[in-house]
Amino acid sequence: MPKELWTIGRLLQWTEQYFLGKGVESSRLDGEVLLSHILGKDRIYLYTHYDEPLTKSELDAYRPLVIERGKGYSVAAIIGQKEFMGLSFTVTKDVLIPRPDTETLVEDILSFIPKEQGPYILDVCTGPGTILYSLLHYLPAATGLGLDISKDALAVAVTNREQLQLTERAKLCASDLFTALQKDPQYEKAFDIIVSNPPYIPSEEVKTLAPEVLHEPVLALDGGIDGLDFYRRLLTEAPRYLKAGGYLAVEIGYDQAEAVIELATRVGVYGDVVANKDIAGIVRELRWQKLGD
Ligand code: GLN
Repeated sequence: MPKELWTIGRLLQWTEQYFLGKGVESSRLDGEVLLSHILGKDRIYLYTHYDEPLTKSELDAYRPLVIERGKGYSVAAIIGQKEFMGLSFTVTKDVLIPRPDTETLVEDILSFIPKEQGPYILDVCTGPGTILYSLLHYLPAATGLGLDISKDALAVAVTNREQLQLTERAKLCASDLFTALQKDPQYEKAFDIIVSNPPYIPSEEVKTLAPEVLHEPVLALDGGIDGLDFYRRLLTEAPRYLKAGGYLAVEIGYDQAEAVIELATRVGVYGDVVANKDIAGIVRELRWQKLGD
């Protein structure tokens, strides 16, 4: 950067141009978020202090973040934080970054479980704790267990559990889907609700994802040849751990509703499916109630 005086305004303009040149879509917003992160202020501050110069140490701290964003890392991964359901989650390169799409599932569950109820919730493939913790936060009497195959992801989930003050109500366990629960009879028909946002991108498509997504763990995205591997296992194995009348809710990819509903029908223990759409009108969540034993 040239040696003239770098005010907040000038730096934001420069960053926007730099990002545009790198093909970053939300070029203005991303610069604002990164700079407010460095300054420890909210975005409004940037506009109420538009003509104020930045110190050398602020500029030195900002520069590497801009370079990382230019390389395709998402802002969330760079600042290590992402908001989901009004809560702030710590994120790292080891986890799937919480996406607004997943709020469809969480909002659905919250829409019919009364606040005073204390369901026991299992989140399979919990990642940073996205679904489990947002449900526990808004259902103060609920308790839960989060499973993930990735120990690195679980370490992030531990951090979030502390930050969100859910250590008393949430347990975590390393597990390839339900595998860790198999030998312990206490988990049989134990859960009122099982939720999951498993990897569901067909293997061939993973390579074609946006650069921001390609910097996320493939393990959290790759759902096998047709993207449905985890639904096959989830739908057949979940009934063993779900109470009669309990709910199973999964996030699905934009074109997977029909195939996943068909899988559930074949398992034969679920009632009618409830399909919920995201704001774009695409079915992103499927939910079933387990029929009586
Ligand atoms: N929705 C994510 C994406 O499109 C994928 C999440 C997943 O595989 N569970 O990148």
